[in-house]
Amino acid sequence: MNLSLAKVEERLKVVDNMKRIIFFGAPGAGKGTQSSRLQKELGFVKIATGDLVRAEVEAGTELGIRFKQKISKGQLVSDDIIIQMVRNRLEQVDMKDYIVDGFPRTIVQADALSGMPADEEIAFYLKVGSPEVVVNRVLSRLTCVECGAIYTARNNPPERAMECAKCGGIAKPRTDDTEEVIRKRIQVYRDQTKPVIEYYRQRGLLREIDASQNIDDVFEVIKGIIS
Ligand code: AMP
Repeated sequence: MNLSLAKVEERLKVVDNMKRIIFFGAPGAGKGTQSSRLQKELGFVKIATGDLVRAEVEAGTELGIRFKQKISKGQLVSDDIIIQMVRNRLEQVDMKDYIVDGFPRTIVQADALSGMPADEEIAFYLKVGSPEVVVNRVLSRLTCVECGAIYTARNNPPERAMECAKCGGIAKPRTDDTEEVIRKRIQVYRDQTKPVIEYYRQRGLLREIDASQNIDDVFEVIKGIIS
């Protein structure tokens, strides 16, 4: 584990003033949507731990089988494994400004992240209203199984699948986007991730954004803060 971190640090010596952007927010707050836009428009590298976890599940690896059980109950997977996955990913990508989406979710993960290389750090907290807003947003979301692009289901009753405009894959509800699992995920978020938000607030790194605005307006606020 230490060796891996040392390797990442060595590669980073060539990068000047590297930024790390973190997204916090309840499920459905728009973390994935906003981080994908930053990736596309500003060239950030995006590391979304949920995507890494789902890729293991899709590939049917031993790890994936264990993850599947956790995901289906709305629970977090183990800190050690997820921290190592983020380190591995940082090692594989070209070193430049990067976003972590869905990480850190526990204080242990936050401590590990603060030891990973970055010269500057901004944590965005995307705030949405009541849990009901969150549940409705997540229930109307379609996620591409290939590239992770997120869409809002149209029509009434809502469509249950569509072709992804970005990669041609199938966008459909995630297996954990059911009402029962979302409510559990909101609970886990309150218990385990809210203290992490406080951790960043106390360090003066947190920027709170009203994420009930439309996607473009939220993105403009984020861009304004970053640049
Ligand atoms: P997400 O797409 O971020 O909502 O993540 C989907 C699921 O993957 C979560 O409900 C967890 O089971 C798992 N997961 C993703 N990121 C983490 C993390 N940082 N720590 C622990 N589990 C995670």
